[in-house]
Amino acid sequence: MNTDPLELSRFIKEAAREVGFDLVGLAQAGPFEETEARLLDHIEQGRIAGLAWFNADRARFSCDPANLLPGVRSIISLGISYLTGPLSEDKPALTGRVARYAWGQDYHTVLKAKMQTLFERISQHTGSQSARLLVDTARIVDRSVGQRAGLGFFGKNTNLINKQFGSYIFLAEILTDLTLEYDPPAWGTCGRCTRCLEACPTEAIVEPWAVHNDRCISYLTIELKGTIPEELRPGMGGWVFGCDICQEVCPYNKKAQGGEHPEFQPRQAGDDAPDLLAWLRLTESEAAFRQKFRGTPLLRTKRTGLRRNVAVALGNSHDPAALPALQQALSVETDPIVREHLEWAIRQLEKPES
Ligand code: SF4
Repeated sequence: MNTDPLELSRFIKEAAREVGFDLVGLAQAGPFEETEARLLDHIEQGRIAGLAWFNADRARFSCDPANLLPGVRSIISLGISYLTGPLSEDKPALTGRVARYAWGQDYHTVLKAKMQTLFERISQHTGSQSARLLVDTARIVDRSVGQRAGLGFFGKNTNLINKQFGSYIFLAEILTDLTLEYDPPAWGTCGRCTRCLEACPTEAIVEPWAVHNDRCISYLTIELKGTIPEELRPGMGGWVFGCDICQEVCPYNKKAQGGEHPEFQPRQAGDDAPDLLAWLRLTESEAAFRQKFRGTPLLRTKRTGLRRNVAVALGNSHDPAALPALQQALSVETDPIVREHLEWAIRQLEKPES
């Protein structure tokens, strides 16, 4: 059993790439004090207001990896690109949009399986069983881990940007008691670019590196379970699950290398560019919704959330062709929140300018 930090670090990096990760970096596991101060400031300024559970205690907890694994020494920071093939070519007249990360299989499942394989190889090599495997959890500050481990730097849109793969990357972490040879933190800059701040239609990026989460379209379409504030609905355009605008305009993403991961390609034609009228019909039935989106991130918004979002996107289309479908949907809808959004959409299409 060889636990020389240099040799072990080489072994881990090679194994991570063999298992299918595009990025791997190693960081020491001390507390993230700067991130903690920044998060507490965001909470105080009300920028995380939409996520009531993300309070000061949670922020403090997530900034010290020792809370998750007593005796932790190192973090293996992992990244995988989800930038895949082109958008659907044949788009229906009324097309919505889905954030790239949700086109394919649920990334939690895909990344967990890869991490498990990697962990087994590491523990066979070292004998160490003490580890925590994490994918996209608010109990650790994953972007700060990635920055410390050299994976990428923070863009003004708060995404982690890797110079090779851009910001279309999923992050995962293995906390371990092993001592490793650490990578230098990532360095990079947006320079004078402010494209993402200007492009955000709901003005959610209130200043560089500060997103007001309850204005963000990702929050509005996924996390928010109730009524979408009326003044923010027009800015949502056709987005029915998540949003990529601040990433699409980013120069780093324009030249980003794609990943080779078929798991993240659209499972069926139209998953990346949904037919809004078809999804309005589909979401009438819980069984049909579950069957279509089983194993994908879209289950997270639940049927009524997706139906609410589709109603907003149809309202934003200003296309009267959607009126009969919206009226039919309203005639069978019993959920008061969805009903209110359907009524709003109908009003948009009945306005004289539409
Ligand atoms: Fe930075 Fe410009 Fe990308 Fe925004 S769009 S993250 S400002 S480089």
